[in-house]
Amino acid sequence: MTQREVDLFVIGGGSGGVRAGRIAAQHGAKVMMAEEYRMGGTCVIRGCVPKKLFVYAGRYAHDIDDMAGFGWRVSAPEFDWLTLVANKDKEIARLEGIYKRNAEAAGVEIVASRAVVAGPNLVRILDTGEEVAARHILLATGAHPALGPQIPGCELAITSNDAFNLRGFPDRILIQGAGYIAVEFAGLFRALGAEVTLVYRGDKVLRGFDMELRDHLETEMTRAGIKLVSGKTLASIEAISGGKKVVLSDGSELEVDEVMLAIGRIPSTRNLGLEGVGVALDPLGAVIVDAHSRTNVPSIYAVGDITNRINLTPVAIREGHAFADTVFGNKPWTVDHSLVATAVFSEPEIGTVGCTEEAARAAGRPVDIYKTTFRPLKATLSGRETRNFMKLIVDGETDRVLGVHIMGEAAAEMIQLAAVAMGLKATKADFDRTIAVHPTAAEELVTLR
Ligand code: NDP
Repeated sequence: MTQREVDLFVIGGGSGGVRAGRIAAQHGAKVMMAEEYRMGGTCVIRGCVPKKLFVYAGRYAHDIDDMAGFGWRVSAPEFDWLTLVANKDKEIARLEGIYKRNAEAAGVEIVASRAVVAGPNLVRILDTGEEVAARHILLATGAHPALGPQIPGCELAITSNDAFNLRGFPDRILIQGAGYIAVEFAGLFRALGAEVTLVYRGDKVLRGFDMELRDHLETEMTRAGIKLVSGKTLASIEAISGGKKVVLSDGSELEVDEVMLAIGRIPSTRNLGLEGVGVALDPLGAVIVDAHSRTNVPSIYAVGDITNRINLTPVAIREGHAFADTVFGNKPWTVDHSLVATAVFSEPEIGTVGCTEEAARAAGRPVDIYKTTFRPLKATLSGRETRNFMKLIVDGETDRVLGVHIMGEAAAEMIQLAAVAMGLKATKADFDRTIAVHPTAAEELVTLR
């Protein structure tokens, strides 16, 4: 059999890989893509999309609680976990199909198998053993949950991969970690009715975020009934009748139904054949790339979480697009990683863009801080005890807005537009000149004094 040849072989059918493959094919490249599991990758199959669906599910519980203050009477509603899981599965299967069809419609040949790098210009498809010659190879295999130290019983813990498919709802769950995934799952499981304990080694959730935002989120999480246990780790997990017994690093014990680890994600670079061709990795195992997503091997590129730059789907998509335009479209450009807005779908949710107060002060420039905390209008009739928080970090000399931090309903929606303003180098005066939209929470952003 003669060896097949392609212009681009993409390993990994997630957001970054699919965008790169589609755009390269549209530029006329012959593209082959291998995916060992399901098209769509982490975001679609076991990340952003199912997570947001579960967050929506939890919010109905809040709405039901809030209805009475607005005059509604409802008889005791019931929540069925397996219906949620089954409906989520249907939607994910639909999206997976769209990903596959869109890639194929662009001319990408999809191979349902694991593939590994066999040379600087060679990829081996493991299911068939076929070797394909590739002018360029794109690594887009993403990342996977870290499992942490090998404590006794660690095999009894689940990760976010499993949490979406539990066969029974965990009435009592312990989550370890304090990053995006830990606080998001803590919020959604609590909203759905679980007793949630969050155990983390630091002193506060969401390290790296604005300190006051972190304080306000902890206040709201505690108010929602989430038990926050800081400064501790897990020492052991043991299966007992009716659940799991967990011992923490201080010797304290608790019994739960599930233990979930959300302690970071590791770039999926192992057993990909990278050592054989000398692709350079950083100490965490992430592929080292330049601004054009090129590795130290000139024919091999990498985009998305495997490079551990900013591990967000829209960033991976942008990196994939830039790679394809640069290498196959004769239109070189690079991704600006400096101003990326992000949302944490905690309860309440967070939207943030730009720098924190701590980072702005550390940079040594004069900084003006504008902030407010207020009870959202909806909470007045519902009686819900919750407060929004908003904060602007402003350069004291130039008046440029350096950071926007929001906690409260629709924070994720608001921050997208704040990011547009910041991209246009908006000043505090520009925000102030903007007439408020009333009554909204967002209007606080343009009326901060
Ligand atoms: P993060 O890196 O955000 O958080 C990891 C957490 O685990 C931190 O609290 C960290 O503590 C803790 N941790 C790490 N190692 C250990 C250990 N050995 N023992 C105990 N605790 C440990 O990772 P996530 O898994 O939450 O998320 C991964 C990435 O996925 C995010 O950074 C984000 O880029 C992306 N993501 C984005 C989402 C969104 O956009 N809404 C949603 C979900 C994920 P410490 O702070 O002390 O280091």
